[in-house]
Amino acid sequence: MAQPLSPSVIAAFAAIVGKDNVFFDEADQLAYQDKFAIDDALHHPAGAVAPTTVEQVQAIVRVASERGLSLWPISRGKNLGYGGSAPLLAGSVVLDMSRMKKIDYDEANGTVLLEPGVGFYDLYDFLKSRGMKHWLSVPGNSWGSVVGNALDRGVGYTPYGEHAARICGIEAVMADGLVVRTGMGALDGAPTWQLYRFGFGPSWDQMFVQSNFGIVTKMGLWLMPAPESLMGMDLEFDRPEDLGPLIDAIAPLRREGLLQQSPTIGNWLRAAAVLTTRDQWTDKPGALGDDVIAAIRKKFNVGWWGVSLRLYGRESVNKAAYAVLEQAMSALKPMAMRPTSWKTGEPMEASGWTGTPLTMPMQNANWHGGRGGHVGFSPILPQSGAAAMAQFQRTYARYKEYGMDYQASFAFGERHLINVNAVLINKDDPALMGRVDPFLKQLIADAKAQGYGEYRTHLDYMDAVAATYDFNKGSLWQINRKVKDALDPNGVIAPGKSGIWPTRKAGGRA
Ligand code: ADP
Repeated sequence: MAQPLSPSVIAAFAAIVGKDNVFFDEADQLAYQDKFAIDDALHHPAGAVAPTTVEQVQAIVRVASERGLSLWPISRGKNLGYGGSAPLLAGSVVLDMSRMKKIDYDEANGTVLLEPGVGFYDLYDFLKSRGMKHWLSVPGNSWGSVVGNALDRGVGYTPYGEHAARICGIEAVMADGLVVRTGMGALDGAPTWQLYRFGFGPSWDQMFVQSNFGIVTKMGLWLMPAPESLMGMDLEFDRPEDLGPLIDAIAPLRREGLLQQSPTIGNWLRAAAVLTTRDQWTDKPGALGDDVIAAIRKKFNVGWWGVSLRLYGRESVNKAAYAVLEQAMSALKPMAMRPTSWKTGEPMEASGWTGTPLTMPMQNANWHGGRGGHVGFSPILPQSGAAAMAQFQRTYARYKEYGMDYQASFAFGERHLINVNAVLINKDDPALMGRVDPFLKQLIADAKAQGYGEYRTHLDYMDAVAATYDFNKGSLWQINRKVKDALDPNGVIAPGKSGIWPTRKAGGRA
């Protein structure tokens, strides 16, 4: 357990948000813990406080600053596989903004201004009640916050799937209590805050993404106008070596813009782990054998790799683009190619491709049973079939060496791939858990040897991943630290987040 906070501090927080909105007993601490961290105690919070207004956030920051406390801001705290609602530094107070749920919708311009507590389901319901003139982009597990997900560079599956890239204007409370608005929001009353991303002078929106430089209290986002039609195909490929040619076929279409959405090539376990559990197939520890893999694939009729491609927009344009896709994919001889199409007015498929929130993929976490979960390992690769095949072979060999089941995908961006690995764990299996940490450290080192770095990581690995970004003796971290020292020298806001520590709280890397 973390050191209990003094009753006077808790009283000071209660005076700001009311006594029902401070959470500092043992059950509360457990509720905000990361149930999937390899060692829970490392990230044990002192408790949580839940404001509803920007003024309350400012007042909480003042108390934390006076009392020498660190706050860990979360929006909804559903960052599964990356730390959930838990702070990096044990003893921090979680600043839970899940009760701040205002939505401002500019229907004419297709933008929203959101408070952190707005979940994907909230925004979906809101847009639906207004006729669904704009679509969302949702992550695979959509139980979290729209703002929180964009702040951790979450991704979805529509043309608006790179969430951090669609941010337009932020309001943040800084460590000294100052409220700032970025971009056109700095011009009091500007009607263009959510329309022009850069403002005048340096543009700061991205400074608040994957950082600890401020507490985001509002975020502007662009939404995709509802398309007239959606066309595409779901494809299955039979052999591990089909990955390279598939990437080389999709990449030019993505760069050219014929394909505007970011497809994800997932392996068989990514598809199967939501349909079955490991114990239905084997009770042997260690990585699954080829015979078991073949049996599971046969039962569920899934390829070694699967991918879904989707086109959005005018039907006439989609039809022409579809013919190009069909030709490119047929040339690869997939084991299955299932066309799909939708038109305005027809019932819509509930999926990531239509921006419908879902939580079913979370079922993956139950693969091993027990207290199941997953830890992410997600290096960025170039969009090259050869590079992806080499990464796959190298990593798959490590999975076998460490006795882990390979669950991975290669997700396209415009110019890059993210090789998302969800390392499936079970906290009730000590033998398995003992292998997880050395395995992840090995994967990080293997990627670094290729010049690859991760795009996002669990709390446990933030310093390790930061250390791989080492050009010129880690000069990027010198800059980050100088900015942190200037804005928040005492580490009131999330010290250690993304490897950024102020000098006075250098708990991680010296
Ligand atoms: P989600 O509920 O979508 O999973 P989280 O609330 O868990 O998102 O946020 C993910 C991470 O982003 C958090 O761990 C935190 O580091 C950061 N974060 C979330 N909300 C804020 C915010 N409002 N201000 C600053 N950082 C935030």
